[in-house]
Amino acid sequence: MGIRDFLSEKIQKVNVIGKKEIDENLWMKCTSCGEVNYHREVAKSLNTCPKCGKHFIISAMEKINIIVDKGSFQEIDSNLRSLDPLKFRDSKKYPDRVKAAIKKTKMNDAFLSGIGRINGRPVHIGAYEFSFLGGSMGSVVGEKIVRLIESAIDNNQHVITLSCSGGARMQESILSLMQMAKTSAALVKLRKAGLAHISMLTDPTTGGVTASYAMLGDVNIAEPGSLICFAGPRVIEQTIRQTLPEGFQRAEFLLEHGMVDMVLPRSEWKGTLSNLLDFFG
Ligand SMILES: [Zn+2]
Repeated sequence: MGIRDFLSEKIQKVNVIGKKEIDENLWMKCTSCGEVNYHREVAKSLNTCPKCGKHFIISAMEKINIIVDKGSFQEIDSNLRSLDPLKFRDSKKYPDRVKAAIKKTKMNDAFLSGIGRINGRPVHIGAYEFSFLGGSMGSVVGEKIVRLIESAIDNNQHVITLSCSGGARMQESILSLMQMAKTSAALVKLRKAGLAHISMLTDPTTGGVTASYAMLGDVNIAEPGSLICFAGPRVIEQTIRQTLPEGFQRAEFLLEHGMVDMVLPRSEWKGTLSNLLDFFG
């Protein structure tokens, strides 16, 4: 019996006896290639699979930490919180959903923004937290992106955004869709100030986020294997009743078709961003 089979069997056994949590502290099975890896090996590879390179979803803070110099990140606008102007309710009240997300993520909304340094050079940077209501863009996220851009202009610094989002936040309806225009307009001001926006598209970047500022980077960089789209492949297939080509809307497909400028693994994020910042001056 090979080591892989042995480990798979071991995990199955442990699952059966209901001690999954204990075992998951040591091993994890890759959702892409099925290999069983040590958790610490995966962590060392910046939360990618050491065998196939699959990039697992990580938190906003983890993404920023990959890029900025250690200890240099200072958060801004952390206190902004959603209101409930529409008194929206689906199976739960919107404020209750927000409250639960705050408790789960220890963040006030789905976007973490601030100022950090990359190889000593200051930069404005922000990232989505996907576990906060699917990284959806509501009024607070839109406002935080705009404030990040405006602060960058005031401080004469470039902007890096790391998107990871299910799109506009449906519970905020039109107020959420309005953030698409608002964030895109802020980027025009950034461009007029002669500053760059580098847009990092991580898995998944979809809906109103893709359809606004996220595709408006001076350089658009995708994470390997990430889904980047407006409507997802299942919705399109159901609508046009046709099978889509292999890899449709994945980062590599988009690179081939001219929709993104590069596909970059996490291990190369910091070095490449540092070079790009030098290039933009
Ligand atoms: Zn793998």
